[in-house]
Amino acid sequence: MSEPPPTAVPIVRARSAREWEALGVACPSCHAPLDDAVGPALRCTGCGREYPVTLGIPDLRLLGDPYLSTAEDVTAATTLAGRDDGRSFGELYASYYEGNAKVPPEQVARFTHGVLAAADRAQATLQTWKELDAPMPTTGTLLDLGCGTAPLGVALACSGYSVVGVDAGLRWLVLARKRAAEQGIDLPVVCANAEHLPLRAASCTAVVGESVLENVADADAVVRESRRVLGPRGVLALTTPNRHSVGPDPHLGLLAGGWRSNATLQAHALRSGQVMPRRRLFTPAELTRTLRHGGFEDVRLSLPQFAGAQVSGLAAPLRLAIGAYHLIRRIPLVRSIVLQIAPAISVVARST
Ligand SMILES: [Zn+2]
Repeated sequence: MSEPPPTAVPIVRARSAREWEALGVACPSCHAPLDDAVGPALRCTGCGREYPVTLGIPDLRLLGDPYLSTAEDVTAATTLAGRDDGRSFGELYASYYEGNAKVPPEQVARFTHGVLAAADRAQATLQTWKELDAPMPTTGTLLDLGCGTAPLGVALACSGYSVVGVDAGLRWLVLARKRAAEQGIDLPVVCANAEHLPLRAASCTAVVGESVLENVADADAVVRESRRVLGPRGVLALTTPNRHSVGPDPHLGLLAGGWRSNATLQAHALRSGQVMPRRRLFTPAELTRTLRHGGFEDVRLSLPQFAGAQVSGLAAPLRLAIGAYHLIRRIPLVRSIVLQIAPAISVVARST
């Protein structure tokens, strides 16, 4: 007899206000509980604000998305959900760029390769954090901050953790639901800004985030909010590109992009037909300082591992360089020197 198929998880599923509250979800403005007395929308029982629920995802954003208006984001998310007709996660992701003249096919192929490789990268990231002696708490809610299509959240949920994904792009959350559904996971996701987290104080035991701190409008506010939702002795684990990296720029591909002026990067983006990212890159020292100012201690940095799927598509010289990097990252003294110019930084810290 063959194995029964895994239970199908729909990408659109509504949750009640009570279910959201059990996960720690609250008003992003005043942090009071939300109710659903006004129908599908959620209403704050404190300040009275009303928040729409779109495709089962509460839209608790207080700020706009830097790349799309809220109306455009809702349209994009609804279009994606409508295309969930047997396509795989990767196919659904690539379809987002259909008809978008601003993003050339080569960039779509690079983005799609990136999101598919992200599942592998998430495992490598979790392994790096573990090496920093930061095991994920086995109780409570883990917040996947700026989850995007949620490779990290899905990897953690597959390991049995209770995860909530938060991202400012509704369209990415539809894709996060799809990535999770393919693994049989019904991942709770909420649309919100990382600077105004829709969670009660001390409602999470860990906040994890990959490639998020460099993309937010106000990284200091995000660190303070992470501290608030963690309460004392919570785990913060992040991975972010290194501004002083001498490798390819994480967004534009140009070598040592973090060392170059904005004007040079803009000119390169224009010349190569790429979208100029809005970002703030950190050096290891800047990252440490930002976390300490935001209420964290015991800040430990390391060199993130590369996953096999990230390396396989690269040119031979880069593959060799990454092989050497994997050897070096095991030698403590050399590691701390290489960290200064490495492509990315992994960090774990404890809230005070
Ligand atoms: Zn409120």
